[in-house]
Amino acid sequence: MLEAFIELDPTWRLVVVGLVLIAAYGVGVRMFPYRACPYCSGGNNYSPTGKHFNVCSRCGGSRRKLRLMARVFGHRDR
Ligand SMILES: [Zn+2]
Repeated sequence: MLEAFIELDPTWRLVVVGLVLIAAYGVGVRMFPYRACPYCSGGNNYSPTGKHFNVCSRCGGSRRKLRLMARVFGHRDR
């Protein structure tokens, strides 16, 4: 396996490394498809007193945004 990799053309070696990295990133995106909503910092949409809050207009109060790459990898927001 490793020998075959070393005998590969340098260009193909890059391609193989790239595919492995993409696969690893895809696994990571699958495990963590969301990030905290940047507009309400994950739900901190509170008034200065902390007693009142508003539902974030960007994430609809879900406090999360689907990562762009998660969408690319076929994940659907619920
Ligand atoms: Zn939000």
